[in-house]
Amino acid sequence: MSASRSLTGRTTVLGVIGWPIEHSLSPTMHNAEFDRLGLDFVYVPFPVPPENLETAVRGLAAAGLAGFNVTIPHKQSVIACLDEISEDAQLIGAVNTVKLENGRSTGYNTDVQGWVDDIQQDILLKGSTMCLLGSGGAARALCVGAAQAGVRSIFICNRTIERAQQLSAELRDRFPEVDFTTGSVEDPDNRAFFQQSDIIVNATPVGMPTSPGMPVPAEWIRENQYVYDTIYTPAETELLRTAVRRGCNTRGGLGMLARQGALAFELWTGLQPDVSRMESTLRRALSL
Ligand code: NAP
Repeated sequence: MSASRSLTGRTTVLGVIGWPIEHSLSPTMHNAEFDRLGLDFVYVPFPVPPENLETAVRGLAAAGLAGFNVTIPHKQSVIACLDEISEDAQLIGAVNTVKLENGRSTGYNTDVQGWVDDIQQDILLKGSTMCLLGSGGAARALCVGAAQAGVRSIFICNRTIERAQQLSAELRDRFPEVDFTTGSVEDPDNRAFFQQSDIIVNATPVGMPTSPGMPVPAEWIRENQYVYDTIYTPAETELLRTAVRRGCNTRGGLGMLARQGALAFELWTGLQPDVSRMESTLRRALSL
């Protein structure tokens, strides 16, 4: 937010809840865009511990906020605190954006479309085959997005195989036209799934400074595949570096972060923000 802007009783307040929340880049991204568009809005980070979630959600609504984002660890548990949930968010079982209007709260998941829009700058999902690493919140959103966009098959690969099986079982009923299979990178037989697929997507934290390394053996990546990593710090993970060396087309997760934010911005303000400008703001904030 610029130093010259003053907040008044007419300022529309938005925010993000999470625990912890101090590293969130969303306040910087949204406030910069409000400034550039000359909107009398402000976006505030709220540290909300899990035991205070329900009280906090009621409090934010009572205090007149227009909406808020939801981040770790509340994306699933917030659902029980809301009046309505969009179809996407129900399918995924997670909400990252809440709109508060006329005394009602509605939960959305903008990670899905954010990722679909970002990856489809490079490659069409329709008719493609995909290997997905992970079965957590992000992986669930990506699976739903990919299935809605018409992928032919998804091989869900996860450290805890039961979680991959559970996700696949849930989505098979909803998307019978998509071929879901599951496995783990521990089983060498699964190399063939990776070698044959058009797209490899990492939705695990493996590759972040806290969890360095490769989420899949390097030799499982074939030349000229498409590799997407949802991680955005660092901008270039070991997976992406390896893929580039194999001549693969690659993309990191910063665009997804900007796009999910832009979709939330649009839900709250009714205005379309400049996504590439939001991505540049994030790059600057991360000194990339
Ligand atoms: P999550 O719900 O905690 O799920 C984490 C997933 O990664 C689980 O499937 C977990 O496997 C797996 N995993 C964790 N540590 C692992 C390890 N050391 N080795 C192998 N697998 C491991 O987290 P999430 O919300 O899905 O987020 C996952 C990642 O997505 C984040 O780290 C973040 O980088 C990225 N993300 C990016 C954006 C974006 O906008 N770009 C948005 C959301 C998330 P188990 O089931 O075995 O525990």
